[in-house]
Amino acid sequence: VSELILRNVEVDGRRVDVALDGEVVTDVGPALHGRGGDEVDGDGGALIPGLHDHHLHLFAMAAAAASVDGRGDVGRAVRAADASAPAGAWLRVVDWHETDGGELDRHALDALAADRPVRVQHATGALWVLNTPGLEAIGMGDHPDGRLFGMDDVLRERLGATAPDLTEVGRRLTEVGVTAVTDATPFTRLDDVRAIRLSQHVTVMGAPELDVQGITPLRVGPAKIVVADHDPPDVDALAAAVKEARAHGRAMAFHCASRLGLVLALAALDVAGAAPGDRIEHGAVIPDDAVPVLRRMGLTVVTQPGFVAERGDRYLAEVEADDQPFLWRCGSIIDAGIAVRFSSDAPHGPIDPWRAIRAAVDRRTASGQVLGPAEAVTAARALAAYLDGRTVAPGQPADLVLLHVPLAEALAHPDATHVRLTLIAGEVQTSRA
Ligand SMILES: [Zn+2]
Repeated sequence: VSELILRNVEVDGRRVDVALDGEVVTDVGPALHGRGGDEVDGDGGALIPGLHDHHLHLFAMAAAAASVDGRGDVGRAVRAADASAPAGAWLRVVDWHETDGGELDRHALDALAADRPVRVQHATGALWVLNTPGLEAIGMGDHPDGRLFGMDDVLRERLGATAPDLTEVGRRLTEVGVTAVTDATPFTRLDDVRAIRLSQHVTVMGAPELDVQGITPLRVGPAKIVVADHDPPDVDALAAAVKEARAHGRAMAFHCASRLGLVLALAALDVAGAAPGDRIEHGAVIPDDAVPVLRRMGLTVVTQPGFVAERGDRYLAEVEADDQPFLWRCGSIIDAGIAVRFSSDAPHGPIDPWRAIRAAVDRRTASGQVLGPAEAVTAARALAAYLDGRTVAPGQPADLVLLHVPLAEALAHPDATHVRLTLIAGEVQTSRA
């Protein structure tokens, strides 16, 4: 690995040169002397630390790219795909939601496509609905309604699917300046974790019972527990899972998409004890009385501002009035002293962090309504929620993003097209004219 100098870049408001040697930044200053390595003229564009998407699902992202878009009228989408797909082939449909597409079960799906196996994933990722040929294909032909909650692993095992290739996922992340990701999938099989190959740094969660230590080059994240809304676990069961994860030295990450989910997670942590690194994923509803508890326990909230933009209208229409003031909180809980990090939850939310930054600033839904104006943050604060406190300074990792424009301009108009170069561990990943 050789030296690279990025000349004439903006770092913390100053025009400087930045030298990298291998995986670290070695020097920052005016007119650095080169040692004959590669050089890039930054032309005054900002050089910032690479972004870390703190919650996504890599294999689901790859699979979604090969799936039928089930948003809106899912019936029409299934019929159209059924008419054009090869006979007998599976149809995999994603992003269905009952609000727009109506409720689904095996019988409703049979009415749409009865001659091939079909599986439809709910927009939350928590539920698959299969038609009768689909259920028969996985040996569950006698399932009453074909609605399978939290059964991704069972499905994958019975479908005999191999892990999808992540090259294209990595390329898309690179394009938007993401140099590190946390895969929040509650993996239960080490083979699945070992199949992760990505140019980005990857932190993996996995289920509490999965011992993911020592799977280099992956980093070990907290253990993931999904606190299901449809069938809430009891506090003792959650606390037992926490203790199991602690035995492996793991922090915890609780998927909390409702008020009840959050209350249960906090109760379990109260029993088992909170630890550094524990997190609340989504925190879709955080009532005021939970805020001091989150703070006392030192929990980080990993939120998805992109959902405000993509699903805000649905929340405003459907979420109970009591919960409306507490939806997808951000600014007010940061002000209350709670650490907040940003993420996409891709493929369930938009992959582009710059779009999420815009949503965090303006809190606008697709129709232009404002969801929780008190939760808005500045663009600088939103960007910081992707940076883990990293800076561009000697000794820092050479995971960097060179923008076409100075930082003030990028923050005034957050957009992925500002990304010119993305470097991961000192290697240039992508280049845009
Ligand atoms: Zn997720």
